Amino acid sequence: MKALSLFSGGLDSILATRLIVEQGIKVEGFYFRTVFWDSLKDRSKALLLGELARQAGCRLHVIDVSKDFFDIVRKPAHGYGKNLNPCIDCKIFLLKKAKEHMQKYRASFVVTGEVLDQRPMSQTYDIINMIEKKACLRGQIVRPLSAGFFEQSIPEKKGWVKPRDFVSIKGRTRTVQLDLAKSLGIKKFLNPTGGCLLTDKGFSKRVRYLMRATCDFNETNIEILKFGRFFRLPKGVRLVAGRNEDENSRLLRIKNSKDYYLYPEDMAGPVGIILGNPSHEDIETSAGIIARFSKPGKTKNRIIICKNSSRHLSERIVSEPASDTLLEKTRIK
Ligand code: SF4
Repeated sequence: MKALSLFSGGLDSILATRLIVEQGIKVEGFYFRTVFWDSLKDRSKALLLGELARQAGCRLHVIDVSKDFFDIVRKPAHGYGKNLNPCIDCKIFLLKKAKEHMQKYRASFVVTGEVLDQRPMSQTYDIINMIEKKACLRGQIVRPLSAGFFEQSIPEKKGWVKPRDFVSIKGRTRTVQLDLAKSLGIKKFLNPTGGCLLTDKGFSKRVRYLMRATCDFNETNIEILKFGRFFRLPKGVRLVAGRNEDENSRLLRIKNSKDYYLYPEDMAGPVGIILGNPSHEDIETSAGIIARFSKPGKTKNRIIICKNSSRHLSERIVSEPASDTLLEKTRIK
């Protein structure tokens, strides 16, 4: 007998997985990553997840689903939460992804760390049942942390798992989980708030502007939105400007080769990445913004370098620092 666990690295999913493993069932843990809750090429997170999966007793598979997830963020059938978090559709999507891998790994059911009433939008009794139905996993999901509150799943009815070893937790309290973790020797887990940036007000605002713009809604652009100051230029393109050396070097590392980028010549200041296809006017406006956040020089004007690797472009722009009015008009906080 084998099960597939929707593994997030949070305490609930570790406990749920472990409670199944303790019954002698082999579990394949699946961590579905997107750019909205993980950074591009973040090796340290992958290593940490591997450690957490070992604690849970399962083998870990990390699968990138960012591309398919963009459609969910753009148009969630069940709407958004407080910010741009499409929680109901996200859960349906992740369960469907899990279902896709069930046959390949010969898993008979799915395990989740869901706890009834833990989240108001996506974890009420009716919503959990609706999500299960929409994911086409009727009766095939085992929830070892809230088992007693739901109709028995097929694995429970058929005796593949022993419900008496499960717990029945409800609500937002973490006491039972923490006690259980202690008794199972589980010491490490990810923060319960999970780090999904779609629940963050400021980040959601930036993503909304990016979705409305003509520029690509892709992984690299989303990653760029995690840093710096954000500007919406009058003709629709977006500018992201680093706030310090660390952000500047990150932006340079992650930018697309087709992106225009700017930085001040011979003085300290931000690196700016333009998202979208800028006109000459957009580049001049961006140079003004970069000049405004650069260290004052001997003269009022600054020399800003504008480059584009795929176009082999490198231009020196003599730029006057942007005015307060322009900054107020374009900056998105
Ligand atoms: S908070 Fe983010 S990761 Fe969690 S369910 Fe909602 S959209 Fe998905």
